[in-house]
Amino acid sequence: MATGAMPWDRPAPEREGLPSAWSLFPEDLAALGCPGSALETFRRLHRPWTWEAGAPVLGPAIRRWLEGVADLALPGIVERQPSEDGATKLALQLADGKRIEAVHMPRRVRNPRVTYCVSSQVGCAMGCTFCATGSMGILRNLQPGEILGQVLAMMAVLGPTRGHELTLVFMGMGEPLHNLEHLHRAIRLLCHPAGLGLGKGRITVSTSGLVSGIEKLATLEPRPLLALSLNATSDEARSRTMPVNRVWNLARLRQALDAWGPRRGEKFTFEYVLIAGENDTEDDAARLADWLGDLRSAHNLNLIPLNEHEASALRAPDETRVQQFAGWLKARGCFVTVRRSRGRDIQGACGQLVKPVARG
Ligand code: SAH
Ligand code: SF4
Repeated sequence: MATGAMPWDRPAPEREGLPSAWSLFPEDLAALGCPGSALETFRRLHRPWTWEAGAPVLGPAIRRWLEGVADLALPGIVERQPSEDGATKLALQLADGKRIEAVHMPRRVRNPRVTYCVSSQVGCAMGCTFCATGSMGILRNLQPGEILGQVLAMMAVLGPTRGHELTLVFMGMGEPLHNLEHLHRAIRLLCHPAGLGLGKGRITVSTSGLVSGIEKLATLEPRPLLALSLNATSDEARSRTMPVNRVWNLARLRQALDAWGPRRGEKFTFEYVLIAGENDTEDDAARLADWLGDLRSAHNLNLIPLNEHEASALRAPDETRVQQFAGWLKARGCFVTVRRSRGRDIQGACGQLVKPVARG
């Protein structure tokens, strides 16, 4: 895995020198000489429902000290686009002017739970041909404090009001396992009981199949849920649309899942973007069921009709074919759902999180 040396792993220039306040654990705050309770300071920083006017409520002495040792800037919400289905797409601006996107998706009426689709990188290096983010290339990794800041800034403005009402899916911009070190620090911060206190079962990391990252993540605690973007059923086809398959092919990927060893109650999510004339035949369905093997009935297979976008000439199959494809899989014992992408009307759906980058 890339660390430090790669251009996309450098921190934003403004962040050099001071660590982000949102990336510090209570023990880090203590080590930096926190003049009050480090645990209480962490709690105030990481619980946006206790904030006032978009900022944590800190005593003057702690605030003065903290401003001297850490950067308190949060990503700014610079655009909000509500969708007809209740989802809101947000553009967030980072300290160096670069932008990421996230989507706020409330459950249905009278349920306080909200799912956030969040980003792990600015752009993405993986180059999948069907993906709008892929077409912009990689600009850089998000820092742990930026991943946290993204979540906290959204919560402060749009809710939910408690950590246990929040579910996170890393399905926004970027390949999370390409930024595993920062991602996992962020996950540890998100799960800290004095902060948001997210359960590890409320965080899903979606990967295009970076096997080295899957194998590493499998050993880390807390271990989030894993979603895998499959999107093709032969090495020939998968290598054409997802270059990562040229390094780790389908057989190797399947091995990594066995090695992960799902625990009781832990389910994989398999994402399969349906593309007309590319991966939507009955043979594909049969190969897909074969590849899943004994995982097919107890885990979730999500069919996602392609969200069409300007950067690609690929098209989604029609509704009849989508239902037919689901039927072929069900007949083979798979547990299948069709993901009706939310936020389609605002280009906030999967693979559409692309944004011209502000100068900086
Ligand atoms: N990089 C990670 C997570 C971000 S992409 C990954 O690839 O898994 C999140 C999901 O959106 C993936 O399952 C991906 O296959 C899917 N996706 C990408 N482009 C899409 C498009 N144009 N239409 C529908 N889904 C798309
Ligand atoms: Fe990157 Fe995922 Fe898009 Fe592939 S599908 S280019 S891995 S964001």
